[in-house]
Amino acid sequence: MITIYSDDHNLHSGLLKPGDNEAEISAECPERANNVIAVLRDQGFGEIVAPGYFPDDKLTRIHAPDYVQFLQTAWQEWEASGETGKNARPDTFVGAGMRHAEVENIVGKLGRYSFDATSPFVPGSWQAIRTSANIALTGAELIRSGEKFAFAACRPPGHHATSRYCGGYCYLNNNSLAAQSLLDGGAKKVAILDVDYHHGNGTQSIFYERNDVLTISLHADPKIEYPFFLGYADEPGEGPGDGSNVNYPLPFGTDWSHYQIALAEALDRLRRFAPDALVVALGLDIFAGDPTTYFEISTDDFSRMGEVIGALDLPTLVVLEGGYAVDWIGQNTLNFLSGIENA
Ligand SMILES: [Zn+2]
Repeated sequence: MITIYSDDHNLHSGLLKPGDNEAEISAECPERANNVIAVLRDQGFGEIVAPGYFPDDKLTRIHAPDYVQFLQTAWQEWEASGETGKNARPDTFVGAGMRHAEVENIVGKLGRYSFDATSPFVPGSWQAIRTSANIALTGAELIRSGEKFAFAACRPPGHHATSRYCGGYCYLNNNSLAAQSLLDGGAKKVAILDVDYHHGNGTQSIFYERNDVLTISLHADPKIEYPFFLGYADEPGEGPGDGSNVNYPLPFGTDWSHYQIALAEALDRLRRFAPDALVVALGLDIFAGDPTTYFEISTDDFSRMGEVIGALDLPTLVVLEGGYAVDWIGQNTLNFLSGIENA
């Protein structure tokens, strides 16, 4: 399986936790992707190639043009305004009853385009964000041109990003960009299977009223876990998209014996949709050893998971999402990808 990767993600570093813990480094750190690539290289998993460059109109197939512009200049505007924080971060949001006004102040802009405070900007953020999208789009291009499988080693991740809001460590929605690119390249139907521990709210909202993309997410119940305000079982899609979104909210402590039942149901649903291609939003934060989450999926379980997904026998692009057990994320990724290939 070909992996697409770039060192550019290292420019998106020095991210801090919001609030009182601003001295603490964010869990979404460069070591994550570096560990993944180190393990794939060490184990000789397959060819690792650099991403191509795709023009902005690929991004605006999914994201609002003014939002893309904001992402591009957020750090420069923050610095130019005299703000001294090491991270550019919002502190005021567009709440109910307020206006989504076209503000000029950068702190206001950060609030206008963010749904939470977890996605800050540092000097190298835009280049890393842009390259991460290029990685996913290169993966889609490889699938379109006949590769059976590809792995887009994206960082920052993307599944929480909506068409015009960043949040949850995400800025551009890499898996959605890839799915749209597959459709634009000739696929009639694409499915996105999100196995990150957290609900893929951005991906769901982007395709919620469409029937050419089936979005399925297995995740911790939003009643008790981030992102809290989307990801419930009664969100089937709207209008033409009615029936094209499926959520599996799962309890804390979910292990493979329970997870595989929900996954089998999800894959049945996916088979019935009969997509031309599959995009997997691979979050490794369902791992039992993840310091930030509460599922009990083991390193060996990732192999089993890859095998059942690989058995769908679809052209499949795997896109890296979350996963914060830095010392294990590489091995768990390798097991999942090997499972897909060996199915
Ligand atoms: Zn996650």
